[in-house]
Amino acid sequence: MIKAIIIDLDDTLIDTTEQLSESWKKALCRVLTQRTGQPLLIVGDTVERFIKEHSYTAKYTKACCEHFNLNPVMISEEIYRVIDLSSLQLSHDAKKFLGHIQGYEVYLVTTGSKILQGRKLQHLGLRFHFIELYDESEGGNKAPLFKKVLQKYRPEEAICIGDNIRSEISAANSLGIRTIRILKGKRKDLQPANYLEKPVHTVHTLMEAAAIIQHIQKQAA
Ligand SMILES: [Mg+2]
Repeated sequence: MIKAIIIDLDDTLIDTTEQLSESWKKALCRVLTQRTGQPLLIVGDTVERFIKEHSYTAKYTKACCEHFNLNPVMISEEIYRVIDLSSLQLSHDAKKFLGHIQGYEVYLVTTGSKILQGRKLQHLGLRFHFIELYDESEGGNKAPLFKKVLQKYRPEEAICIGDNIRSEISAANSLGIRTIRILKGKRKDLQPANYLEKPVHTVHTLMEAAAIIQHIQKQAA
């Protein structure tokens, strides 16, 4: 019997790569322009060059900051505060899913910045809709956050939904929590490097995940 649902935010509940990549790039260009005093055209060219080299936001942001001799942590924190979130919206799939999982205890587990993740949830009208668990440490490890869920529930009473096999899927598997990988965003083509990165289930939509949960409940009943 499933009682707790652990869900990741970026590229799981929301389509971050699809909807916020452009906003991040614009915010980065704006902040770098302000901090360096360089023309936007120069900054923009540099940012585009690093995007081609590093596809992940955090990596190209760091590379740009190093290029301009700026502290990437400070610049990222500024972006968290100013990034325009108007392009972010809940998909039809996510809305339906949230309707389906009422009645479960839902833990939103994220390694992103608390400021930015909070702004995203606020923008979507989802602030305090879930039990929010954050790990903002470098590299972010979700296992300690999952252990908090396991203080209340047995591993078989929880299920974890996420897009990242190197993060939540691996952490949940290591703790005996059933895993559902959603193939979304920039990590959808990643191949498991070991057995811990192999999800129990793989889906393309959140509603497929809801159907799996429903199926498990029926079997347990
Ligand atoms: Mg994610």
